[in-house]
Amino acid sequence: MRITIFGTGYVGLVQAAVFAEAGYQVLCVDVDADKVARLARGEVPIYEPDLQHPVVENGAAGRLRFTTDAARGVAHGDIQFIAVGTPPDEDGSADLTYVLAVADTIATHMDTETLVVVKSTVPVGTSDKVRAKIVERLAARGRSDLQFDVASNPEFLKEGSAVADCTRPDRIIIGVASRRAEERLRELYAPFNRNREKIIAMDIRSAELTKYAANCMLATKISFMNEIANLADRLGADIEHVRHGIGSDPRIGYNFIYPGVGYGGSCFPKDVQALIRTADQIGFDAALLKSVEERNNRQKSYIVDKIHAHFGPDLGGRTFALWGLAFKPNTDDMREAPSRVIMEALWAAGATVRAHDPKAMEECQRIYGDRPDLVLCDTRDEALQGADALILVTEWKAYNIIDFDDMKATLKQPVIFDGRNVYDPAAAKRHGITLYAVGRGTRN
Ligand code: NAD
Repeated sequence: MRITIFGTGYVGLVQAAVFAEAGYQVLCVDVDADKVARLARGEVPIYEPDLQHPVVENGAAGRLRFTTDAARGVAHGDIQFIAVGTPPDEDGSADLTYVLAVADTIATHMDTETLVVVKSTVPVGTSDKVRAKIVERLAARGRSDLQFDVASNPEFLKEGSAVADCTRPDRIIIGVASRRAEERLRELYAPFNRNREKIIAMDIRSAELTKYAANCMLATKISFMNEIANLADRLGADIEHVRHGIGSDPRIGYNFIYPGVGYGGSCFPKDVQALIRTADQIGFDAALLKSVEERNNRQKSYIVDKIHAHFGPDLGGRTFALWGLAFKPNTDDMREAPSRVIMEALWAAGATVRAHDPKAMEECQRIYGDRPDLVLCDTRDEALQGADALILVTEWKAYNIIDFDDMKATLKQPVIFDGRNVYDPAAAKRHGITLYAVGRGTRN
């Protein structure tokens, strides 16, 4: 089976590498010529653990190739995957421009029966739009005789462990409207479905909604914990005790109940928004999801509020060391990252930021360029030099262990704002450090 994947972002590239690793002939198509050229040279343009090796090895073996030539791409694949971006539109709904452009491209070049699989996260009903677009283009070409299926196969990988998630998925959701499409997808995923049945087949609309439901559920867990953390702050309770206490209930569980500075990334914020807009469009008030979004937006300012409470409204002349730019550990992705909201608020109040991240420095430079109030530091210790206080934003393992005495000697003031509850408040106190964490009982 030969596979074509449109879009070589986090999803398309990882899935392509994993399919090639399983032995399939994979051709990736992207409109970004620079990205394609780099990939063709074996350079991986994003940071994702364990991705370099399969891209290089399968590239060398001729199983994984890259092109900007869409016609070549369409001619290659028995299955055509659409894995392009679906960024938020101005009103928060998913922008389907890229998805529908690929559908049009496929219909423009296809010459034989094909299966089109939508892997991008798309609102319910999008596969119908993809189908309509293909029907329209085939009719314009006078090729309405060509048969095709459209299927939905949403992706559940997590940035930071994307290769492992794709190689050993928890589940493989396939939304199909024909037995032919289902059989072909079952055959495609057979190598990933060996140790237990992971394929969950359903109708297309349910598959499309499953992806949104999953991300919205996870976002809800985070916003719920952040809400309780705010209460804990004001009530003099410690959210970390509360977290352990509730996680021990198997109906709740320990996963994904960490309070912090809010969720970010390219998926949760946009997918929560998009489902709210979908609900709006059909006249349903998605009250819970609106609150999830609202809590998250406020949570991104949580640390900034603590900083102002400590240093006052004017931060002119102040310098803050900021550890962690990526929206979460093990990625270089800064899309919707809380670090951006925090840095921008600090700059607006006149402060300078000395930032460090193990992988996202290049991305930060790309986003913010050379600003006088941003200093990108090569090491975490360098970021502390001359800083009034430390702000921990992303819980990279490299930031887990700190020497409070060194910290005290280096920082102008012994103050740490811990946006991920990594540091021990009792130890900080013993060393004379003022530690502001999230929901750990500092009444204010
Ligand atoms: P991305 O922005 O990293 O990559 C998208 C790629 O598509 C880019 O390289 C872009 O150049 C390319 N592209 C745009 N138009 C094209 C066209 N007409 N033909 C070929 N290529 C084209 O996006 P991503 O993070 O990989 O996300 C892709 C989709 O998967 C989105 O819908 C997203 O919501 C979903 N998703 C993302 C993740 C994640 O963790 N990033 C996880 C699950 C699902």
